[in-house]
Amino acid sequence: MKNITTILAGLRKTVRGFDGPAVSLVIAEYGRDPFFILVSCLLSLRTKDTISLPVSLKLFQSVKNFKELAAMPRAALESIIYSTGFYRQKAKQLQAIAHEIVTHHGGKVPNTREALLALPGVGLKTANLVLAEAFGIPALCVDTHVHRISNRLGLVATRTPEETEQALQKVLPRKQWSEWNRLLVVFGQHVCTPQSPHCSTCPLLKLCPRVGVKRSR
Ligand code: SF4
Repeated sequence: MKNITTILAGLRKTVRGFDGPAVSLVIAEYGRDPFFILVSCLLSLRTKDTISLPVSLKLFQSVKNFKELAAMPRAALESIIYSTGFYRQKAKQLQAIAHEIVTHHGGKVPNTREALLALPGVGLKTANLVLAEAFGIPALCVDTHVHRISNRLGLVATRTPEETEQALQKVLPRKQWSEWNRLLVVFGQHVCTPQSPHCSTCPLLKLCPRVGVKRSR
């Protein structure tokens, strides 16, 4: 097994100089409120954080809970989230979730994986992020960065994010599950980038087998 402690120490040191992931910035602004975390996570799907974060913050100036989100005129919502792409689909999904949460959960985001996955369009990645960041329940949110880098480091050898989640659960201590996503999102945006990662200056170079890396800087 790789030296997880050394890898974690290297990751923590490296990401210190960069802005945190979007969810950390939302938490810094609004605290660990499940409404803000779930909505910002949904807006970030298939969109870069640099675009989705300002949109989330703008939306939160108008709505602060699911009741208000459900009642917002669709055209107004679409206009605010337009730049995230797929804005019609996202507006429809956000209001379907808001309606579901108001009607069946008393306006509160449910705190179990099963109930979160039952919300319209909520997948594993979103459910795990909400569990970890809003409720402090250990969960491995496997996005594209976590999937790619965990494989490059040789910690897992998987083809899908779902397989990565299962495999990482056997390698990573439970108390590090939530942190793993926060670290790898930032590390993946700035160092271990999808195309041509910055291996020559990477602090993990000595212990990284660079699985699947064909071109690097
Ligand atoms: Fe990624 Fe390269 Fe660093 Fe390995 S050495 S973690 S592939 S940047």
